[in-house]
Amino acid sequence: MADYDEPLVYLVGAGPGHPDLLTIRAMHCLARADLVLYDRLVPARILDYAPVPAKRICVTELAACHRDRGSKIHETMIAAARQGKRVVRLKGGDPFLFGRGGEEAEVLRQNGIPYEIVPGVTAGIAAGIFAGIPLTHRHFSSAVALVTGHEDPDKEDSLVDWSVLARFPGTLIFYMGFARLPEIVQSLIDHGKDAATPAAMVQLASTAQQQTVDAPLKDLPASVEAAGLSAPAILLIGSVVSLRSRLAWFEKRPLFGKRVLVTRPRHQALDLVRRLENLGAATAVLPVVDVREPKDWGPVDRAIAALAGYQWLIFTSTNGVHAFFRRLRETSRDLRTLGTIQIAAIGPGTADALRQFHLEPDLVPPQYHSEGLAQALASKAAGQRILLARADRGRDVLAEELSRVATVDSIVVYSQIDVLDRNSEVFQCLRHGEVDFVTLTSSNIAKGFLNYLDDACKDKIKSGVVQLVSISPVTSSGIQKLGFPVAAEANEFTMNGIVEALVKLVRSQPELLA
Ligand code: SAH
Repeated sequence: MADYDEPLVYLVGAGPGHPDLLTIRAMHCLARADLVLYDRLVPARILDYAPVPAKRICVTELAACHRDRGSKIHETMIAAARQGKRVVRLKGGDPFLFGRGGEEAEVLRQNGIPYEIVPGVTAGIAAGIFAGIPLTHRHFSSAVALVTGHEDPDKEDSLVDWSVLARFPGTLIFYMGFARLPEIVQSLIDHGKDAATPAAMVQLASTAQQQTVDAPLKDLPASVEAAGLSAPAILLIGSVVSLRSRLAWFEKRPLFGKRVLVTRPRHQALDLVRRLENLGAATAVLPVVDVREPKDWGPVDRAIAALAGYQWLIFTSTNGVHAFFRRLRETSRDLRTLGTIQIAAIGPGTADALRQFHLEPDLVPPQYHSEGLAQALASKAAGQRILLARADRGRDVLAEELSRVATVDSIVVYSQIDVLDRNSEVFQCLRHGEVDFVTLTSSNIAKGFLNYLDDACKDKIKSGVVQLVSISPVTSSGIQKLGFPVAAEANEFTMNGIVEALVKLVRSQPELLA
C-alpha cells in the first residue's frame, strides 16, 4: 500500500437529470465528501447524498466572479485537495464525454493530486432510452457516433468531418447542438445525408420536463421551433428514430409533464414525491407546517407513567407515533411499558408507523378520519379509559365524540409550527402559475397554506390555473370555507388516495394533456 495515495478528488458523473440515475459508486463518493463542486444541471436531490456539513458550490457561481470558469474550478479543486479535503467534482452525464473531464483530470495529474473517475449515464444514451429510441438495432443500425454540435459547421479548420458524418452508417447523436440545429441539418444534407432520415430532438431527457420532437431531418428545425423546445437537448439522427412511435414509454406516464406541489413537512414529503415522480410528474416541496417537540412533556410523562390505567391508546398521525415512542425511549422505558393496552390508528399510514415499532394496531377504522375512528371505537371502548396522543393543533372532534361514551385524556406529543416561506423559489413559481396542482394532505396544512397566500397566488387558484387536490372531505370543506375551489378529492384518505385522485383528474382534463 506504500505507493498508493487515496484519491482526494473524485470526478463523478451525475447522470442525465433523473436523480435515481446515479451509480452506487457515485453515492458512496458523495457520502464521504467535504466539498461538492457541481454543474448547474445536476439535480438538487443528488446533493443530499453528501453529508450535511459538506460545502456545496455550483460551478456557475464560481464563473460569476472569474473570467475563466475552467481555471477557477481547477483552482478551487486543487486548493481544497491540498488542505486534505475530499472533493467531489459532480458533472452532468458522464465526466469524460464533452464535459471537460479530461482537462480536469490532466490538471490534477500535473499538480500531483490523486484522483478517481466515476462514470455516469450520459445524456445521449438517456435521450435514446427515455424517448423510446434504441441507439442500435439489428435491422437498423450497428454503430453510434457521439458528436459535438457546438462547432460551427462552416468553420474552416473544424474538427468535425461533415462528409464522414453524412456517410456514417449508423445513429448520430449530437450534444450541444441546440443553437446550431439548422446549420447541422443543412451541413449533413449538403454532404449527402438523406433529407428524409428520421431525426429527433430530446429536451431535458429523463426529467419531468422532457420534451421530444421527431421529424424527417430536413423538417426538424422548423418542428423544434414550433414546439418551443430549448437547451439542453440531444439531437438523434438515424432510422432507429422511427421505432419511437412504437417504443416510447416515459412520456406516456399518466402525470407526465405535470408540475405538482407537495405541501407536507420536508421529512415526510419523500413518499408522496416518489409516487408522483414515478407517474411522470415534476414535483416541488413547499412545507407549510413543521413538527416540533411539545412545549411541555410533563403531561405526556405522567400519562406514560400511568399507562396501566388505560385500556386504549389512540394515534391520529405518524408524527404522533414517532413522537410518543421517542419520548418512551428518552425516559428510559421500552415497549413493555405498553403492557396489554389496545392501540387504535386513524388510518393505514399511522398503522404502518406503528408496525415499524413491531406493534399491530387493534383497530383501524374503515374510514380514515376522526369521525370514522370515533364511530368504530365507540362500542368497543364504552365505559373505558382512553389516552389520545395528538398534536397541539387540529380538530377536537375525536375527543369530543369519544367523551360521550368513555373517559378521554388527551396528551400533546408534538406541536406544529408554520414554516411557509414566501421568498422561496417554489413560492415564486406558484405566484407565476408555473404549478399545475397543489396537493393538500390535511386540513391544518390546507388552512395554513391558503391563509398565507398573497393575492397573486389566490388569483391563480381561483381562476383554475393552479388546481387544488384534497386528501379528504374534511380537508375539502376547510378549503371551500376559505373560498377556494377543490379540483379533486381522494377516495381513500392516504398518499395513495391523493395520487389516484390526481391521476383521475388529469385523465378527465384531456385539454391539459400536452
Ligand atoms: N457530460 C455530459 C455532456 C455535457 S455537454 C453527458 O455525458 O451527458 C452538455 C450537453 O449535454 C448539452 O448541451 C446537451 O446537449 C446535453 N445534455 C445534458 N443533459 C441533457 C439532458 N438531460 N437532456 C438532453 N440533453 C442533455
